[in-house]
Amino acid sequence: MKTECCVIRDLLPLYAEDLVSAETADVIRLHLHECPDCDKEYLYMQDMEKRRAELVQKTDDNDIKPFKKMMKKANRTLSAMCFALTVMLLFLGVVKSDGANAMLMYNAVIMPVCGVCGYVAFRMKAVIVLPLLLLLTDGLAYAFDVLPETVNMILWLSGIYCIFILAGILIAALFHYALRKE
Ligand SMILES: [Zn+2]
Repeated sequence: MKTECCVIRDLLPLYAEDLVSAETADVIRLHLHECPDCDKEYLYMQDMEKRRAELVQKTDDNDIKPFKKMMKKANRTLSAMCFALTVMLLFLGVVKSDGANAMLMYNAVIMPVCGVCGYVAFRMKAVIVLPLLLLLTDGLAYAFDVLPETVNMILWLSGIYCIFILAGILIAALFHYALRKE
């Protein structure tokens, strides 16, 4: 092999990645134009690099895709389950609101749990979604006459429930933040 060819081939990897100066690139380009052997070597190198990149991409896709898909599906299932649980707990809590202090204590547990479930299902949007759901549940319970309470009492209790719910959301959000940091 000619000395010039040796030098050019040493530089080919850098040339392929555009890491040589404009002058050097010109020299290499001219040489490749005039020397079929080096040109062939360059084409071969490019081909290998392309195949390697494709293989890496394929392997990455194969490794990550099913896992990502599975996680997405699991996440969706978890969200749906938590959403259903939130609605159930809200309904249970509202229906159990017969004003007795014991029931208020009952809801001091139900509503924060509701907030945690709501956070899993809606993340921070739960802060808006859950009070709205609570109001909707109130409305439905009132419309179907499930509640023995007056509207004033229902709204007053719902205000307290909202505070419990927000506390639950806050706790869940703090836990989530702490876990993600680790
Ligand atoms: Zn050459």
